[in-house]
Amino acid sequence: MKEITSSEFETEVLAGGKVVLDFYSTECPPCEALAPKFEGLAGLYGNDIMFVKMFRQQNKPLAEKYGVKSSPTLLFFDNGVQVGNMLTGGIKRSDIIHQLDAMLPTERVNELKKVIKPSVSEFDVLILGAGPGGLTAGLYLCQSKVNTVLIDIALPGGHVSTTHEVSNYPGFIDPQPGYLLSHNMSEQTKLCGTVYKVAVDVTKIDLENKEVVIDEFETIKAKKIIIATGTSPNLMGIAGERELKGKGISYCATCDAKYYGDKEVVVIGGGNSAVEEADFISKFASKITMVHQFDALTANKQAQEKLVANPKISVLFEHEPRSFAREGDKIVTEVENLKTKTTSKLVSDGVFIFIWMKPNIELFRDKLELDSWGYIKTDEDMRTSMPGVYAVGDVISKKYRQITTAVADGTIAAIAIAKELD
Ligand SMILES: Cc1cc2nc3c(=O)[nH]c(=O)nc-3n(C[C@H](O)[C@H](O)[C@H](O)COP(=O)(O)OP(=O)(O)OC[C@H]3O[C@@H](n4cnc5c(N)ncnc54)[C@H](O)[C@@H]3O)c2cc1C
Repeated sequence: MKEITSSEFETEVLAGGKVVLDFYSTECPPCEALAPKFEGLAGLYGNDIMFVKMFRQQNKPLAEKYGVKSSPTLLFFDNGVQVGNMLTGGIKRSDIIHQLDAMLPTERVNELKKVIKPSVSEFDVLILGAGPGGLTAGLYLCQSKVNTVLIDIALPGGHVSTTHEVSNYPGFIDPQPGYLLSHNMSEQTKLCGTVYKVAVDVTKIDLENKEVVIDEFETIKAKKIIIATGTSPNLMGIAGERELKGKGISYCATCDAKYYGDKEVVVIGGGNSAVEEADFISKFASKITMVHQFDALTANKQAQEKLVANPKISVLFEHEPRSFAREGDKIVTEVENLKTKTTSKLVSDGVFIFIWMKPNIELFRDKLELDSWGYIKTDEDMRTSMPGVYAVGDVISKKYRQITTAVADGTIAAIAIAKELD
Protein backbone atom coordinates (compact mmCIF):
# COMPACT_ATOMS: atom_id res chain seq x y z
CA MET A 1 0.00 0.00 0.00
CA LYS A 2 1.27 3.42 -0.95
CA GLU A 3 0.58 6.91 0.45
CA ILE A 4 0.58 9.58 -2.26
CA THR A 5 -0.15 13.30 -2.71
CA SER A 6 -2.00 15.18 -5.49
CA SER A 7 1.26 15.69 -7.39
CA GLU A 8 1.61 11.91 -7.81
CA PHE A 9 -2.03 11.35 -8.76
CA GLU A 10 -1.33 11.47 -12.50
CA THR A 11 1.45 8.87 -12.44
CA GLU A 12 0.27 6.60 -9.61
CA VAL A 13 -3.48 6.59 -10.20
CA LEU A 14 -4.38 7.74 -13.72
CA ALA A 15 -1.43 5.90 -15.26
CA GLY A 16 -1.38 3.16 -12.64
CA GLY A 17 -3.62 0.49 -14.22
CA LYS A 18 -6.14 -0.86 -11.73
CA VAL A 19 -6.15 1.33 -8.61
CA VAL A 20 -8.27 1.86 -5.51
CA LEU A 21 -7.74 5.25 -3.83
CA ASP A 22 -8.67 5.99 -0.22
CA PHE A 23 -9.22 9.66 0.70
CA TYR A 24 -8.84 9.58 4.50
CA SER A 25 -8.75 12.11 7.31
CA THR A 26 -7.32 12.18 10.80
CA GLU A 27 -9.62 12.14 13.85
CA CYS A 28 -12.11 10.23 11.73
CA PRO A 29 -13.45 7.04 13.32
CA PRO A 30 -14.95 5.71 10.04
CA CYS A 31 -11.47 6.10 8.49
CA GLU A 32 -9.97 4.13 11.35
CA ALA A 33 -12.64 1.46 10.90
CA LEU A 34 -11.78 1.20 7.21
CA ALA A 35 -8.00 1.05 7.66
CA PRO A 36 -7.67 -2.62 8.76
CA LYS A 37 -10.14 -3.78 6.07
CA PHE A 38 -8.28 -1.80 3.41
CA GLU A 39 -4.96 -3.21 4.56
CA GLY A 40 -6.32 -6.77 4.71
CA LEU A 41 -7.74 -6.51 1.20
CA ALA A 42 -4.48 -5.02 -0.07
CA GLY A 43 -2.85 -8.24 1.12
CA LEU A 44 -5.33 -10.32 -0.89
CA TYR A 45 -5.80 -8.23 -4.07
CA GLY A 46 -2.49 -6.30 -3.97
CA ASN A 47 -0.86 -8.14 -6.89
CA ASP A 48 -3.72 -7.27 -9.22
CA ILE A 49 -4.97 -3.89 -7.96
CA MET A 50 -2.87 -1.09 -6.51
CA PHE A 51 -4.01 0.19 -3.09
CA VAL A 52 -3.30 3.89 -2.59
CA LYS A 53 -4.08 6.35 0.23
CA MET A 54 -4.30 10.14 0.14
CA PHE A 55 -4.66 12.51 3.13
CA ARG A 56 -7.80 14.45 2.22
CA GLN A 57 -7.16 17.66 4.19
CA GLN A 58 -3.80 18.22 2.46
CA ASN A 59 -5.13 17.36 -1.00
CA LYS A 60 -8.46 19.17 -0.85
CA PRO A 61 -8.65 20.57 -4.44
CA LEU A 62 -8.16 17.11 -5.93
CA ALA A 63 -10.68 15.56 -3.52
CA GLU A 64 -13.22 18.25 -4.40
CA LYS A 65 -12.58 17.78 -8.13
CA TYR A 66 -13.66 14.14 -7.73
CA GLY A 67 -16.72 15.05 -5.62
CA VAL A 68 -15.26 13.72 -2.36
CA LYS A 69 -17.28 15.39 0.42
CA SER A 70 -16.56 13.20 3.44
CA SER A 71 -13.96 10.83 4.80
CA PRO A 72 -13.23 8.09 4.14
CA THR A 73 -14.09 7.90 0.46
CA LEU A 74 -12.87 5.17 -1.88
CA LEU A 75 -12.53 5.76 -5.62
CA PHE A 76 -11.77 3.02 -8.14
CA PHE A 77 -9.82 3.55 -11.37
CA ASP A 78 -9.09 1.29 -14.33
CA ASN A 79 -6.50 2.63 -16.79
CA GLY A 80 -7.19 6.22 -15.83
CA VAL A 81 -10.97 5.91 -15.95
CA GLN A 82 -13.04 6.06 -12.75
CA VAL A 83 -15.10 2.85 -12.46
CA GLY A 84 -17.76 1.45 -10.12
CA ASN A 85 -19.34 3.47 -7.33
CA MET A 86 -17.67 5.87 -4.95
CA LEU A 87 -17.83 4.33 -1.44
CA THR A 88 -18.05 6.62 1.56
CA GLY A 89 -18.81 6.70 5.31
CA GLY A 90 -18.96 3.40 7.22
CA ILE A 91 -17.61 1.32 4.36
CA LYS A 92 -18.17 -2.43 4.63
CA ARG A 93 -15.54 -4.94 3.59
CA SER A 94 -18.10 -6.70 1.37
CA ASP A 95 -18.83 -3.47 -0.53
CA ILE A 96 -15.14 -3.03 -1.32
CA ILE A 97 -14.80 -6.67 -2.38
CA HIS A 98 -17.82 -6.28 -4.66
CA GLN A 99 -16.12 -3.37 -6.45
CA LEU A 100 -12.68 -5.03 -6.60
CA ASP A 101 -14.15 -8.26 -8.00
CA ALA A 102 -15.86 -6.29 -10.76
CA MET A 103 -12.44 -5.00 -11.87
CA LEU A 104 -10.97 -8.50 -12.36
CA PRO A 105 -11.79 -11.50 -14.59
CA THR A 106 -14.03 -14.07 -12.82
CA GLU A 107 -11.34 -16.79 -12.97
CA ARG A 108 -8.87 -14.55 -11.15
CA VAL A 109 -11.48 -13.66 -8.50
CA ASN A 110 -12.14 -17.37 -7.92
CA GLU A 111 -8.40 -18.03 -7.57
CA LEU A 112 -8.07 -15.25 -4.99
CA LYS A 113 -11.06 -16.51 -2.98
CA LYS A 114 -9.45 -19.98 -2.74
CA VAL A 115 -6.54 -18.48 -0.80
CA ILE A 116 -8.88 -17.62 2.11
CA LYS A 117 -8.95 -20.49 4.63
CA PRO A 118 -12.05 -20.95 6.91
CA SER A 119 -11.37 -21.04 10.68
CA VAL A 120 -13.33 -21.86 13.87
CA SER A 121 -12.71 -20.57 17.40
CA GLU A 122 -14.59 -21.05 20.71
CA PHE A 123 -15.31 -18.73 23.62
CA ASP A 124 -17.53 -18.71 26.72
CA VAL A 125 -19.21 -15.45 25.77
CA LEU A 126 -19.49 -13.64 22.46
CA ILE A 127 -20.43 -9.95 22.59
CA LEU A 128 -21.79 -8.35 19.43
CA GLY A 129 -21.09 -4.64 19.51
CA ALA A 130 -18.26 -2.76 21.25
CA GLY A 131 -20.05 0.42 22.33
CA PRO A 132 -20.31 1.33 26.04
CA GLY A 133 -22.76 -1.56 26.69
CA GLY A 134 -20.61 -4.25 25.05
CA LEU A 135 -17.32 -2.88 26.38
CA THR A 136 -18.60 -2.82 29.95
CA ALA A 137 -19.94 -6.37 29.66
CA GLY A 138 -16.53 -7.38 28.25
CA LEU A 139 -14.74 -5.76 31.18
CA TYR A 140 -16.85 -7.39 33.86
CA LEU A 141 -16.69 -10.81 32.18
CA CYS A 142 -12.95 -10.55 31.75
CA GLN A 143 -12.47 -9.62 35.39
CA SER A 144 -14.57 -12.70 36.27
CA LYS A 145 -12.09 -14.78 34.18
CA VAL A 146 -14.74 -15.61 31.57
CA ASN A 147 -13.24 -16.22 28.13
CA THR A 148 -14.88 -13.48 26.05
CA VAL A 149 -14.70 -12.17 22.48
CA LEU A 150 -15.96 -8.75 21.37
CA ILE A 151 -17.04 -8.42 17.75
CA ASP A 152 -17.79 -5.12 16.04
CA ILE A 153 -18.38 -4.12 12.46
CA ALA A 154 -16.50 -0.87 13.24
CA LEU A 155 -13.80 0.17 15.66
CA PRO A 156 -14.66 -0.09 19.39
CA GLY A 157 -16.47 2.83 21.00
CA GLY A 158 -19.93 2.94 19.45
CA HIS A 159 -21.66 6.32 19.29
CA VAL A 160 -19.44 7.79 21.98
CA SER A 161 -16.41 7.67 19.69
CA THR A 162 -18.12 10.06 17.26
CA THR A 163 -19.61 12.33 19.93
CA HIS A 164 -17.76 15.61 20.23
CA GLU A 165 -18.00 16.05 23.99
CA VAL A 166 -19.55 14.10 26.84
CA SER A 167 -20.34 16.15 29.91
CA ASN A 168 -22.65 13.79 31.79
CA TYR A 169 -20.56 10.65 32.30
CA PRO A 170 -19.75 10.46 36.02
CA GLY A 171 -16.16 10.49 37.23
CA PHE A 172 -14.87 13.40 35.14
CA ILE A 173 -14.93 16.99 36.33
CA ASP A 174 -14.54 18.47 32.83
CA PRO A 175 -16.42 17.41 29.70
CA GLN A 176 -14.58 14.58 27.96
CA PRO A 177 -13.98 14.29 24.20
CA GLY A 178 -16.14 11.34 23.12
CA TYR A 179 -13.30 9.59 21.28
CA LEU A 180 -11.16 9.74 24.43
CA LEU A 181 -13.84 8.39 26.72
CA SER A 182 -14.56 5.50 24.34
CA HIS A 183 -10.84 4.93 23.77
CA ASN A 184 -10.27 4.63 27.53
CA MET A 185 -13.25 2.30 27.94
CA SER A 186 -11.97 0.15 25.11
CA GLU A 187 -8.36 0.04 26.33
CA GLN A 188 -9.49 -0.93 29.85
CA THR A 189 -11.45 -3.89 28.49
CA LYS A 190 -8.75 -4.88 25.99
CA LEU A 191 -5.93 -4.71 28.52
CA CYS A 192 -7.92 -6.98 30.82
CA GLY A 193 -7.68 -9.68 28.13
CA THR A 194 -10.96 -9.68 26.23
CA VAL A 195 -10.31 -10.77 22.63
CA TYR A 196 -11.20 -8.13 19.99
CA LYS A 197 -12.41 -8.80 16.48
CA VAL A 198 -13.35 -5.36 15.21
CA ALA A 199 -13.87 -3.64 11.88
CA VAL A 200 -15.14 -6.94 10.50
CA ASP A 201 -18.16 -7.89 8.44
CA VAL A 202 -20.65 -9.93 10.44
CA THR A 203 -21.78 -12.35 7.76
CA LYS A 204 -24.13 -14.61 9.73
CA ILE A 205 -25.56 -14.82 13.26
CA ASP A 206 -27.04 -18.12 14.48
CA LEU A 207 -28.48 -17.31 17.90
CA GLU A 208 -29.90 -20.81 18.52
CA ASN A 209 -26.50 -22.49 18.04
CA LYS A 210 -24.55 -19.50 19.40
CA GLU A 211 -22.40 -19.13 16.29
CA VAL A 212 -21.34 -16.03 14.43
CA VAL A 213 -19.52 -15.95 11.09
CA ILE A 214 -17.33 -12.94 10.37
CA ASP A 215 -15.73 -11.89 7.09
CA GLU A 216 -17.37 -14.93 5.45
CA PHE A 217 -14.71 -17.40 6.56
CA GLU A 218 -14.24 -17.14 10.35
CA THR A 219 -16.73 -18.96 12.61
CA ILE A 220 -16.85 -18.01 16.30
CA LYS A 221 -18.76 -20.26 18.73
CA ALA A 222 -19.80 -19.42 22.30
CA LYS A 223 -21.93 -20.62 25.20
CA LYS A 224 -23.71 -17.27 25.59
CA ILE A 225 -24.23 -14.27 23.34
CA ILE A 226 -24.70 -10.65 24.39
CA ILE A 227 -26.24 -8.38 21.78
CA ALA A 228 -24.96 -4.80 22.24
CA THR A 229 -25.36 -3.55 18.69
CA GLY A 230 -26.91 -0.17 19.61
CA THR A 231 -28.69 2.02 17.10
CA SER A 232 -27.92 3.70 13.76
CA PRO A 233 -29.20 6.87 12.17
CA ASN A 234 -32.25 6.00 10.16
CA LEU A 235 -32.68 7.69 6.83
CA MET A 236 -35.60 10.09 7.05
CA GLY A 237 -36.83 8.62 3.79
CA ILE A 238 -37.39 11.95 2.07
CA ALA A 239 -36.43 12.92 -1.46
CA GLY A 240 -32.76 13.58 -2.06
CA GLU A 241 -31.47 12.20 1.25
CA ARG A 242 -30.10 8.89 -0.04
CA GLU A 243 -28.50 10.55 -3.08
CA LEU A 244 -26.81 13.29 -1.01
CA LYS A 245 -25.73 11.06 1.92
CA GLY A 246 -21.97 11.58 2.20
CA LYS A 247 -22.17 14.23 -0.52
CA GLY A 248 -23.42 17.15 1.53
CA ILE A 249 -25.59 15.32 4.05
CA SER A 250 -23.74 13.96 7.09
CA TYR A 251 -24.67 12.10 10.28
CA CYS A 252 -21.32 12.63 12.06
CA ALA A 253 -20.17 16.10 13.16
CA THR A 254 -16.82 14.82 14.46
CA CYS A 255 -16.08 13.41 11.01
CA ASP A 256 -17.30 16.21 8.76
CA ALA A 257 -17.77 19.54 10.63
CA LYS A 258 -14.19 20.56 9.84
CA TYR A 259 -15.07 20.78 6.14
CA TYR A 260 -17.57 23.58 6.78
CA GLY A 261 -15.18 26.36 7.85
CA ASP A 262 -16.98 29.71 7.38
CA LYS A 263 -19.87 27.95 5.65
CA GLU A 264 -23.58 27.80 6.37
CA VAL A 265 -25.05 24.59 7.70
CA VAL A 266 -28.50 23.19 8.48
CA VAL A 267 -28.85 20.84 11.48
CA ILE A 268 -31.94 18.65 11.72
CA GLY A 269 -33.06 17.72 15.26
CA GLY A 270 -33.59 19.32 18.66
CA GLY A 271 -32.60 16.67 21.21
CA ASN A 272 -29.37 16.52 23.20
CA SER A 273 -27.33 15.05 20.36
CA ALA A 274 -28.48 17.69 17.84
CA VAL A 275 -27.88 20.61 20.22
CA GLU A 276 -24.46 19.41 21.44
CA GLU A 277 -23.30 18.60 17.92
CA ALA A 278 -24.62 21.92 16.52
CA ASP A 279 -22.56 23.69 19.18
CA PHE A 280 -19.50 21.74 18.00
CA ILE A 281 -20.19 22.48 14.30
CA SER A 282 -20.38 26.20 15.17
CA LYS A 283 -16.63 26.10 15.92
CA PHE A 284 -16.22 25.82 12.14
CA ALA A 285 -19.38 27.03 10.39
CA SER A 286 -20.35 30.71 10.22
CA LYS A 287 -24.09 30.13 10.55
CA ILE A 288 -26.25 27.21 11.67
CA THR A 289 -29.98 26.88 11.26
CA MET A 290 -31.51 24.10 13.33
CA VAL A 291 -34.80 22.60 12.16
CA HIS A 292 -36.90 21.10 14.94
CA GLN A 293 -40.41 19.67 14.76
CA PHE A 294 -41.61 20.80 18.20
CA ASP A 295 -42.13 24.28 19.65
CA ALA A 296 -39.32 23.78 22.18
CA LEU A 297 -36.04 21.88 22.19
CA THR A 298 -36.04 18.46 23.86
CA ALA A 299 -32.38 18.71 24.90
CA ASN A 300 -31.58 19.14 28.59
CA LYS A 301 -31.50 22.64 30.11
CA GLN A 302 -27.67 22.86 30.24
CA ALA A 303 -27.38 22.08 26.51
CA GLN A 304 -30.18 24.55 25.72
CA GLU A 305 -28.44 27.33 27.65
CA LYS A 306 -25.26 26.71 25.64
CA LEU A 307 -27.25 27.00 22.43
CA VAL A 308 -29.03 30.21 23.43
CA ALA A 309 -25.64 31.77 24.21
CA ASN A 310 -24.27 30.82 20.78
CA PRO A 311 -24.85 33.70 18.32
CA LYS A 312 -24.15 31.51 15.28
CA ILE A 313 -27.12 29.19 15.93
CA SER A 314 -30.80 29.89 15.33
CA VAL A 315 -33.69 27.45 15.55
CA LEU A 316 -36.63 27.04 13.21
CA PHE A 317 -39.25 25.53 15.52
CA GLU A 318 -42.27 23.51 14.36
CA HIS A 319 -40.71 22.79 10.96
CA GLU A 320 -39.88 19.48 9.30
CA PRO A 321 -37.67 18.79 6.29
CA ARG A 322 -39.54 17.52 3.24
CA SER A 323 -36.77 17.17 0.64
CA PHE A 324 -33.11 17.81 -0.09
CA ALA A 325 -31.67 18.85 -3.44
CA ARG A 326 -28.32 19.97 -4.77
CA GLU A 327 -28.21 23.27 -6.62
CA GLY A 328 -24.65 23.97 -7.75
CA ASP A 329 -22.47 23.97 -4.63
CA LYS A 330 -25.44 24.35 -2.31
CA ILE A 331 -27.88 21.97 -0.64
CA VAL A 332 -31.47 23.18 -0.67
CA THR A 333 -33.57 21.86 2.22
CA GLU A 334 -37.27 22.25 1.69
CA VAL A 335 -39.00 22.60 5.08
CA GLU A 336 -42.67 22.59 6.01
CA ASN A 337 -44.08 24.84 8.70
CA LEU A 338 -46.16 22.33 10.66
CA LYS A 339 -48.57 25.03 11.83
CA THR A 340 -49.29 26.86 8.59
CA LYS A 341 -48.51 23.88 6.27
CA THR A 342 -46.55 26.23 4.01
CA THR A 343 -43.11 25.27 2.68
CA SER A 344 -39.94 27.30 2.34
CA LYS A 345 -36.35 26.65 1.26
CA LEU A 346 -33.15 26.77 3.30
CA VAL A 347 -30.02 27.15 1.19
CA SER A 348 -26.83 25.92 2.89
CA ASP A 349 -23.44 24.35 2.20
CA GLY A 350 -24.27 21.17 4.10
CA VAL A 351 -26.80 19.37 6.27
CA PHE A 352 -26.26 17.36 9.48
CA ILE A 353 -29.01 15.02 10.65
CA PHE A 354 -29.32 13.92 14.30
CA ILE A 355 -32.72 12.24 14.56
CA TRP A 356 -34.44 8.96 13.76
CA MET A 357 -32.34 6.25 15.32
CA LYS A 358 -33.19 2.62 14.60
CA PRO A 359 -32.08 -0.50 16.53
CA ASN A 360 -29.37 -2.59 14.83
CA ILE A 361 -31.18 -5.93 14.70
CA GLU A 362 -31.19 -6.76 10.98
CA LEU A 363 -29.36 -10.11 11.34
CA PHE A 364 -31.70 -11.50 14.03
CA ARG A 365 -34.92 -9.50 13.64
CA ASP A 366 -37.21 -12.58 13.51
CA LYS A 367 -35.50 -14.54 16.28
CA LEU A 368 -36.21 -12.42 19.37
CA GLU A 369 -39.19 -10.80 21.00
CA LEU A 370 -39.24 -7.08 20.12
CA ASP A 371 -41.33 -4.12 21.22
CA SER A 372 -43.47 -2.24 18.72
CA TRP A 373 -40.50 0.04 17.82
CA GLY A 374 -38.27 -2.94 17.02
CA TYR A 375 -36.17 -2.82 20.21
CA ILE A 376 -35.26 -6.12 21.95
CA LYS A 377 -37.30 -7.01 25.03
CA THR A 378 -35.27 -8.19 28.05
CA ASP A 379 -35.87 -9.17 31.66
CA GLU A 380 -34.13 -7.44 34.56
CA ASP A 381 -31.00 -9.58 34.07
CA MET A 382 -30.92 -8.55 30.37
CA ARG A 383 -32.07 -12.00 29.17
CA THR A 384 -33.90 -11.97 25.84
CA SER A 385 -36.67 -14.35 24.78
CA MET A 386 -34.03 -16.86 23.57
CA PRO A 387 -32.13 -18.95 26.17
CA GLY A 388 -28.47 -17.97 26.48
CA VAL A 389 -28.94 -14.74 24.54
CA TYR A 390 -28.73 -11.40 26.38
CA ALA A 391 -29.10 -7.85 25.11
CA VAL A 392 -27.82 -4.55 26.55
CA GLY A 393 -27.65 -0.84 25.80
CA ASP A 394 -29.51 1.22 23.21
CA VAL A 395 -30.70 -1.84 21.28
CA ILE A 396 -33.05 -2.93 24.09
CA SER A 397 -36.55 -1.73 24.86
CA LYS A 398 -36.21 0.99 27.52
CA LYS A 399 -37.05 4.62 28.22
CA TYR A 400 -33.65 6.31 28.40
CA ARG A 401 -30.74 5.69 26.07
CA GLN A 402 -27.55 7.10 27.55
CA ILE A 403 -23.97 5.97 28.11
CA THR A 404 -24.69 5.46 31.81
CA THR A 405 -27.73 3.27 31.12
CA ALA A 406 -25.79 1.22 28.52
CA VAL A 407 -22.90 0.56 30.91
CA ALA A 408 -25.41 -0.38 33.63
CA ASP A 409 -27.04 -2.94 31.31
CA GLY A 410 -23.63 -4.35 30.36
CA THR A 411 -22.72 -4.71 34.03
CA ILE A 412 -25.94 -6.55 34.87
CA ALA A 413 -25.71 -8.97 31.91
CA ALA A 414 -22.06 -9.79 32.66
CA ILE A 415 -22.65 -10.47 36.36
CA ALA A 416 -25.70 -12.63 35.56
CA ILE A 417 -23.76 -14.62 32.94
CA ALA A 418 -20.66 -15.05 35.13
CA LYS A 419 -22.91 -16.49 37.86
CA GLU A 420 -24.63 -18.85 35.39
CA LEU A 421 -21.35 -20.10 33.95
CA ASP A 422 -20.00 -20.71 37.47
C1 LIG B 1 -24.53 12.26 18.35
C2 LIG B 1 -24.80 11.59 19.68
C3 LIG B 1 -24.40 12.20 20.86
C4 LIG B 1 -24.62 11.58 22.10
N1 LIG B 1 -24.24 12.22 23.24
C5 LIG B 1 -24.40 11.60 24.45
C6 LIG B 1 -23.95 12.21 25.65
O1 LIG B 1 -23.40 13.32 25.65
N2 LIG B 1 -24.13 11.52 26.82
C7 LIG B 1 -24.74 10.29 26.89
O2 LIG B 1 -24.85 9.70 27.97
N3 LIG B 1 -25.19 9.70 25.76
C8 LIG B 1 -25.03 10.31 24.54
N4 LIG B 1 -25.49 9.71 23.40
C9 LIG B 1 -26.12 8.37 23.52
C10 LIG B 1 -25.05 7.29 23.75
O3 LIG B 1 -24.02 7.47 22.80
C11 LIG B 1 -25.65 5.89 23.65
O4 LIG B 1 -26.69 5.78 24.58
C12 LIG B 1 -24.61 4.81 23.90
O5 LIG B 1 -23.52 4.92 23.03
C13 LIG B 1 -25.22 3.43 23.78
O6 LIG B 1 -24.23 2.46 23.88
P1 LIG B 1 -24.43 1.01 23.22
O7 LIG B 1 -23.21 0.24 23.59
O8 LIG B 1 -25.73 0.46 23.55
O9 LIG B 1 -24.49 1.26 21.65
P2 LIG B 1 -23.57 2.02 20.62
O10 LIG B 1 -22.77 3.07 21.25
O11 LIG B 1 -24.48 2.39 19.51
O12 LIG B 1 -22.57 0.87 20.12
C14 LIG B 1 -23.04 -0.20 19.35
C15 LIG B 1 -21.88 -0.88 18.67
O13 LIG B 1 -22.37 -2.03 17.99
C16 LIG B 1 -21.75 -2.13 16.72
N5 LIG B 1 -22.60 -2.92 15.84
C17 LIG B 1 -23.73 -2.53 15.19
N6 LIG B 1 -24.23 -3.57 14.49
C18 LIG B 1 -23.42 -4.62 14.70
C19 LIG B 1 -23.42 -5.99 14.26
N7 LIG B 1 -24.35 -6.48 13.46
N8 LIG B 1 -22.44 -6.78 14.69
C20 LIG B 1 -21.46 -6.31 15.51
N9 LIG B 1 -21.41 -5.04 15.96
C21 LIG B 1 -22.38 -4.21 15.57
C22 LIG B 1 -21.56 -0.68 16.30
O14 LIG B 1 -20.54 -0.58 15.34
C23 LIG B 1 -21.21 -0.01 17.63
O15 LIG B 1 -19.82 0.02 17.85
C24 LIG B 1 -25.27 10.31 22.16
C25 LIG B 1 -25.66 9.68 20.97
C26 LIG B 1 -25.43 10.31 19.75
C27 LIG B 1 -25.87 9.62 18.47
